[in-house]
Amino acid sequence: MSEKVYDIAVLKGDGIGPEVVEQALIALQAIGAPRFNFMEHPCGAGCYLDCGEPLPDATVEACRTADAVLLGAMGLPDIRWDDGTEMRPQIDLRILLDLYAGVRPIYLYNGDHSPLKGLGAGAIDFVILRENVEGLFASMNGGIELRGEVAVDSMVITRSGTERIVRYAFELAVQRARSPMRVTCVDKANVFKSMAFFRSVYDRVADEFPDVERDYAYVDALSMYLVQRPRDYDVLVAENMYGDIISDLAAGLVGGLGMAPSGDIGPDAAVFQPSHGTAPDIAGKGLANPIAMILSAALMLRWLGERHGDGEAVQGAARIEEAVQRVVSEAGAGTPDIGGTMTTDELGKAIVEVL
Ligand code: NAD
Repeated sequence: MSEKVYDIAVLKGDGIGPEVVEQALIALQAIGAPRFNFMEHPCGAGCYLDCGEPLPDATVEACRTADAVLLGAMGLPDIRWDDGTEMRPQIDLRILLDLYAGVRPIYLYNGDHSPLKGLGAGAIDFVILRENVEGLFASMNGGIELRGEVAVDSMVITRSGTERIVRYAFELAVQRARSPMRVTCVDKANVFKSMAFFRSVYDRVADEFPDVERDYAYVDALSMYLVQRPRDYDVLVAENMYGDIISDLAAGLVGGLGMAPSGDIGPDAAVFQPSHGTAPDIAGKGLANPIAMILSAALMLRWLGERHGDGEAVQGAARIEEAVQRVVSEAGAGTPDIGGTMTTDELGKAIVEVL
């Protein structure tokens, strides 16, 4: 058994964040190896109420130096800055740590979870690559509001920022090795200069990958295609805001946000978190689906394993995914969002028992 021990910064956050993180930590411990040193750090809207900051400097530093970060969810709708926007430390962290690649696997674990008819497990299997640090979110802290009359946010697309996310998408398609390998460029290049530029950078990077099919879709049409023929997709790459929106749409195809994990990955750091928010409507009721968080922990394991040449970590990721598959393949297994009657704890325990 490997002696490797990874330092993991744990940011539980608000609402259902702590409830789902707890289950992910238990699942990680259940696989036995590699081992982890979990260190919890304050962050979120509750942290702001406690200490005046939603993302203390010490937390950022701990995330920078840890081997990886596990994050629950942050923000509460009633806790806002004076300008009306919410606390969003999870987004600030992406920018501070340059976590440019938002990796969002969309996988159907059980056909009954999908609102689409006639699909079995595995029939939907694609990955959305969301550019995480520029696009429409670049003006997040610098948008203009003038005399209470006009408000402006800008779409910022850089060559280097687009190159690295598109290259990540093509490399991922090669690693997934589907037949055919395909990367879909999601944009609005028919209307916006910024998006035509995004597409031109995509084309230049695509030249480096002659074995991977090019594919293009305007974001509005793509929203329909994803519903009509989700099997056609392999890897999709999009600017920040489009990636944000299509991620939730895609999650809806496979059972909702409780089934959608993600990794925010940069050159020197990575944060793994479910695609969902803090779900205040169900917090504290035992209704939160922990699977998105548990699958995010599996993504973390795979990323650590590939980065450190650690086969046990890569195997651990596969074991967690298989355990989720086995548990939810039983009719009615799961929390209410996926048609089951289990509580958060019961679903977490069922996965751990398989592990
Ligand atoms: P949300 O994702 O919290 O909830 C949307 C819907 O999905 C709700 O009906 C909720 O009950 C359901 N849902 C979400 N996760 C679930 C789970 N694990 N199991 C079962 N059902 C689940 O989005 P929202 O309501 O728009 O936002 C609530 C708060 O979360 C806001 O303060 C928002 O800013 C914040 N937020 C944070 C993140 C993040 O930390 N990454 C992401 C999105 C929203």
